[in-house]
Amino acid sequence: MRKAVFPGSFDPLTLGHTDIIDRALPLFDEIILAIGTNSSKKYMFNLEERLHFLEKTYENEPKVTVMTYEGLTVNFCKSQNAQFLLRGLRNGQDLEFEKAIGQTNFKMAGIDSVFLISSSGKSHISSTVVRDVIRHGGNYEFMVPDVVRK
Ligand code: ADP
Repeated sequence: MRKAVFPGSFDPLTLGHTDIIDRALPLFDEIILAIGTNSSKKYMFNLEERLHFLEKTYENEPKVTVMTYEGLTVNFCKSQNAQFLLRGLRNGQDLEFEKAIGQTNFKMAGIDSVFLISSSGKSHISSTVVRDVIRHGGNYEFMVPDVVRK
């Protein structure tokens, strides 16, 4: 049973995230979409809303489970018997950042990371950009799935 955890803040879920999740589905028997909770971080969407975005989008996908966790991501993986972490790469900056985290996670816990590169036309999308556009009243709908569009 190949199980992966896809961790993130999902503040909000974007078409960049769903691109990675949808393309990873054939690779794994189960994917846990895991919202990391950090009490000192300020979010635009509360935890309930972020859970709803994920649960609604994947309600008909039996391979996907949605959970929340606190603390080290590798500890959460171990508690769920997940052997892999799934991450998306948009650009060289993501690669450099993820490389150090991926190497550390493997050294700490033997959990390997699987990276998928964004599909063409999706690498400009990030939750940060979506939040900025929302704050300034712009059109963000082309960057998010249906459930995030009001
Ligand atoms: P974090 O809080 O860890 O940055 P995010 O919710 O922003 O979490 O992202 C979770 C994962 O989704 C990360 O691996 C990130 O690289 C990936 N991701 C986000 N947007 C995109 C995108 N446009 N293309 C590919 N991967 C993406």
